[in-house]
Amino acid sequence: MAGYIGRFAPSTTGPLHAGSLVAALASWLDARAHGGRWLVRIEDVDRPRCVPGADRAILAQLAACGLLPDAPPLHQSQRGTRYRQALDALLAAGHAYPCGCSRRDIETALAKAGQPRPRGSELVYPGTCRGGLQGKPARAWRFRIPDSMPNGAAAGISSSRHATFSVANDEGDELDWFDRRLGSQRQNVAREVGDFVLLRADGLWAYQLAVVVDDADQGVTDVVRGADLADNTPRQILLQRALQVPTPRYLHTPLVLGANGEKLSKQNGARAIETGMPAAAHAALATAAAVLGLPPHAGPTAAALAAWVDAWRALYNPRSQ
Ligand code: GLU
Repeated sequence: MAGYIGRFAPSTTGPLHAGSLVAALASWLDARAHGGRWLVRIEDVDRPRCVPGADRAILAQLAACGLLPDAPPLHQSQRGTRYRQALDALLAAGHAYPCGCSRRDIETALAKAGQPRPRGSELVYPGTCRGGLQGKPARAWRFRIPDSMPNGAAAGISSSRHATFSVANDEGDELDWFDRRLGSQRQNVAREVGDFVLLRADGLWAYQLAVVVDDADQGVTDVVRGADLADNTPRQILLQRALQVPTPRYLHTPLVLGANGEKLSKQNGARAIETGMPAAAHAALATAAAVLGLPPHAGPTAAALAAWVDAWRALYNPRSQ
């Protein structure tokens, strides 16, 4: 497809593991299956969680697997000026506001409202500072979720065919969006997430803002990433609309689960994939391909990748064959 731009956007919290290789391979295959470009974006905006040198290690692992980006990687740590411009634009248009609440303040407000703190999930911000800081110093900046959300096409903002708002109901508007693997999705962002953070109290840019600004600036047409990020998508679509940038198509890949049944991560023992020898790199790729439902291939890796591009096209993009 002419104009296709895809990307793989690893956080530099460590080298690639079996789970992150699935997202890398899927995004590469989708770009190749569309005759498009494939970019790598180094998501090193959360400095305290970043491991020095992980960006180089990830790029070396990708190269050993035959996954080579079509342009030099972009580093989010270099992009503060653009994120600031985006936040200023959102503030000027009334889509963002400063918040003076600590975590404790939010917990207290939620308890008062009879909404006990959900275990193990983010707090839904009760909107305390929506109307102003009431003398408190600003700590963080939040996105103001629209009270009622116009249909994207009617508002003349979104270029997406898929992301439209359904009609309002008693609990506020739901955002409907489409995933190329999971099908129709919907989320009531106001109720399930609340006004979310764009610039954190520790001065770090939030993932939601960085990812939307970067996808737009890089002209990304297709986001292919792990299913753990699917429920972030409605927040990103709201930000795209507020910033008046296009909404890409989305495809969220199956997750690789760790021994505890949770998404594989460094915290639950994910080991770096072994790519030192060609056979090891091929084995890692073959495991990732199996997670994506692609047939086994004995190699060599270049031949396997070519076969998987065809298999991918048949699975996820049958009309373009
Ligand atoms: N940096 C994120 C991660 O490694 C992925 C972000 C994205 O693909 O939107 O989980």
